Amino acid sequence: AFNANVAAAQDALNAFIVATPEKAIEAAQAVDAMRARGEPLGKMGGVPIGMKDLFATAGVQTTAASHMLEGFVPQYESTVSAKLWEAGAGMLGKLNLDQFAMGSSNETSFFGNVVSPWKRNDGGNAALAPGGSSGGSSAAIAARLCPAATGTDTGGSIRQPAAFTGITGIKPTYGRCSRWGVVAFASSLDQAGPMARDVTDCAIMLEAMAGFDPKDSTSLDLPVPEWEAGLNADLTGKTVGIPREYRMDGMDADVLKSWEDGIAWLKDAGAKIVDISLPHTRYALPAYYIIAPAEASSNLARYDGVRYGLRDLPEGAGLQDMYAATREAGFGAEVKRRILIGTYVLSAGYYDAYYTQAQKVRTLIARDFEAAFEQCDVIVAPTAPSAAFALGENIDDPLSMYLNDVFAVPASLAGLPAMSVPAGLNREGLPLGLQVIGRAFDEQGVLNAGLAIE
Ligand code: GLN
Repeated sequence: AFNANVAAAQDALNAFIVATPEKAIEAAQAVDAMRARGEPLGKMGGVPIGMKDLFATAGVQTTAASHMLEGFVPQYESTVSAKLWEAGAGMLGKLNLDQFAMGSSNETSFFGNVVSPWKRNDGGNAALAPGGSSGGSSAAIAARLCPAATGTDTGGSIRQPAAFTGITGIKPTYGRCSRWGVVAFASSLDQAGPMARDVTDCAIMLEAMAGFDPKDSTSLDLPVPEWEAGLNADLTGKTVGIPREYRMDGMDADVLKSWEDGIAWLKDAGAKIVDISLPHTRYALPAYYIIAPAEASSNLARYDGVRYGLRDLPEGAGLQDMYAATREAGFGAEVKRRILIGTYVLSAGYYDAYYTQAQKVRTLIARDFEAAFEQCDVIVAPTAPSAAFALGENIDDPLSMYLNDVFAVPASLAGLPAMSVPAGLNREGLPLGLQVIGRAFDEQGVLNAGLAIE
């Protein structure tokens, strides 16, 4: 049934880059056989999922939604996807995304934008952005093409698309899920996580995805907690912090209202609400847009026409010409913009002024959170400053696109677990999301507060 839905919705939504119906069937048959033998099923036994096309899948094209990797078929499997197959999940296909996970609307994909299944209630027919970069994942779940999907979050790419499409997604603590086999964007920020219909499904899937991996040097060597068993929406004895600096001048009235509703639901669940301050919040976005492109410019140096995917070798050309021609043809405009910003802020004359300064700001932001978590157990704020915008609305204005990440990037810079849960509709009938940020390693606290909100 899911395979049929994926095929039927492809023209309208463009959520998948490649469909792999035979993989989903294979997993379902394996589960049937296990059931017949009376064997216990894995955590994800028989569940068909979508795989963001940033995870390397052995024998299945992996593109990062870039022309640069079109036709690239890895011989190896990412650790996270391998764990999901091990837990019994089956793959419906590879999901569309922003090119190299750079974007907030899924419009930077080489394979065309994804369309959100949501419409405004104004009778118009404006096509809306599913958010990004995990826009294929969010649209596919919202349209019920799959019950769950993987996402990755460098600066909000699980949380913002979840908020835009009325689903749930959690970015765990940096290091919980292995980055091995995930196409690198900004290595000190990249983190995989589950996207699903609700908090319980996210808890189940995160258990299957997480765990120490010696192949990733920043992987956390900690046991995976039983998050599903630990779910509890009773917040008696818990304190929720509301960050003053996230309440911005001119904030969307519906976003503010959903935040206030969320606070009321948390109170009903027994939580104590306190005001907190994260004084360096306003510097998070500029710091992120220095650090992430800096790391990207280094990570993307490997696409040179020699090792992976595309090779553009003009007649009679030398090595340098091949590099230039390949990178000119292979990378999209947003990727080139990030590489240019990254190489600029890392260049000899500007390194201290930009890159070192941004790293100092990153430390101050992490300290803000440490201080705040002496007063509260979790922090709750909006996921994004607005509901989904129309496709085309921001794509020619990078700064307004980047502003979408304003509430998401602080937790990314601090490496903290953060989740988006649906929190009502705005006046246009579009979903809004609330973000729960927790202490490092406290995914359970985040999931439980999310459960109280959903
Ligand atoms: N929108 C952010 C960016 O473009 C975040 C992307 C992400 O988390 N992968 O960098």
